[in-house]
Amino acid sequence: MAFLFNSDAARAAIFRQVFARELPDLEFYHSSECFEPEKVRYLITWNAPDDLSRLRNLEMLFSTGAGVDQFKPETLPGHVKLVRMVEDGIIRMMQEYVVLGVLTLHREMLAYREQQGRGLWQALATPQAADRRVGFLGLGMLAQAAIDRLKPFGFPLAAWSRSNKTIEGVTCFHGDDQLGSFLKGTDILVCLLPLTEQTSGILNVQLFSLLPAGARLLHVGRGPQLDQDALIEALDSGRLAAAMLDVTDPEPLPGAHALWSHPKVIITPHIASVTQPHTAAQSVIENIRRHRAGRNPIGLVDRTLGY
Ligand code: NDP
Repeated sequence: MAFLFNSDAARAAIFRQVFARELPDLEFYHSSECFEPEKVRYLITWNAPDDLSRLRNLEMLFSTGAGVDQFKPETLPGHVKLVRMVEDGIIRMMQEYVVLGVLTLHREMLAYREQQGRGLWQALATPQAADRRVGFLGLGMLAQAAIDRLKPFGFPLAAWSRSNKTIEGVTCFHGDDQLGSFLKGTDILVCLLPLTEQTSGILNVQLFSLLPAGARLLHVGRGPQLDQDALIEALDSGRLAAAMLDVTDPEPLPGAHALWSHPKVIITPHIASVTQPHTAAQSVIENIRRHRAGRNPIGLVDRTLGY
């Protein structure tokens, strides 16, 4: 029985060490090594390899990242469990990034950067946190973790998800019918949705028109969820005041793209949260143990929902 690691060699070395200690009965191979395909029961990879069908005894396919939109579920054998990455490192980094982004947008850092360029020393009116409503599109693992870190600042918090939820201190909305009411009360919109057919292009002209004038966007989901031209128009017209983007479409964003030089935009190169190999290895091992005990892994993807 074997585990196959199909990603960079440096991370593989860390996984190999942790696996040797925790699951010594499982053979471990990096994809560059010789191995017998029929031995492989577990695979970790970012994309499904072209020759996946030769791993005919595969039981679990782990994504190296928290998203699984890069896989084409219809091409994966039905019995293989597709598992997204759920690990402490990703969660901690996302908490940092969302707090950084919300405070950056709340405390007018883009406007101050612009003033700095002009050598202008001038205070801007800033509402108290209690008067700046922060709303999350998506209320999954990462949004909930980020919300926990934001609570002490005193922002009124809301979130929108597919299914109904009750979370203390968060006004919860769900389903298409409640999206408008959610947006109407959101001054800083944080997108932490998975990319699916339903969420592709969701950040568009119509959605921006439902936000209060001068709202701000923090986008940490996936690039294709955002209509970038609509964002530029919304920023230029003043409908939106600022945006911080960690994801774009395409990635990398081409050097000449108007978003790079837009004074109301901050861009980071998809670094909000990065899988940490030590904690990721522990999480994968825990899921293999669960699977061997007949339990579902944490982060099991519902193929019909696409996340
Ligand atoms: P989860 O699967 O835990 O949560 C997804 C949330 O989105 C759930 O609340 C779900 O609703 C909601 N949702 C999904 N589809 C819809 C829909 N059609 N309408 C309304 N709500 C919907 O995901 P995570 O929190 O772990 O991660 C979210 C995403 O963050 C990832 O898929 C990835 O794209 C992105 N990400 C970005 C990173 C970066 O560095 N920029 C790093 C890591 C992740 P419900 O609760 O009802 O199921």
